[in-house]
Amino acid sequence: MGPWATNAYVLVCPVTSESVLIDPAGEPETLLSMLGDSTPVAILVTHAHPDHIGAVDAMRAALQVPVMAHPGSTLLKADRCLKNGDLVEVGDHTLGVYHTPGHTGDSVCYSVQGDNRVLVGDAIFEGGPGHTSSPGDFRVTLETLRGVILAWPDDTVCYPGHGASFRLGDKRVAIQAFLAKGHGDFFGDATWEM
Ligand SMILES: [Zn+2]
Ligand SMILES: [Zn+2]
Repeated sequence: MGPWATNAYVLVCPVTSESVLIDPAGEPETLLSMLGDSTPVAILVTHAHPDHIGAVDAMRAALQVPVMAHPGSTLLKADRCLKNGDLVEVGDHTLGVYHTPGHTGDSVCYSVQGDNRVLVGDAIFEGGPGHTSSPGDFRVTLETLRGVILAWPDDTVCYPGHGASFRLGDKRVAIQAFLAKGHGDFFGDATWEM
């Protein structure tokens, strides 16, 4: 939704019908229809870029549930601050929080525990890592890829903030080749092939 075609996600526990909304990007009416007759318990934010939180105030007011996010952004006031390793309950299911800085300092990924799906925000896309704004941020992205994301199993399916989902194992060789190269003071939009 929105001018940057940001993906918003709803996860619903099939047993209890409790749900979470991940990245209230925009279009509150669309988000409400995605939630259907589930019972929302939280709004989760992958990072506080405007294209991911365009409807955060409208949805917080409509749903009356806490907004949860990493505290490393001044653009969003979270009701619950999340850090690496935190857990978020959704009915009979649990989401794990990974801090994955680089694209932004407050970037987090949400993994469905006991499952192979991870919501990765703009940390990683099928074609490359998320945009970076400085050489330092790019180096942090490389550390996140090495230390966090590549530690996930091959059958992990990544659901990004833009574009299609992909299987991590299908990208592992390209990511490892990308990490093996020297990128100097590069920052910006990167592809695995560069
Ligand atoms: Zn972003
Ligand atoms: Zn984005």
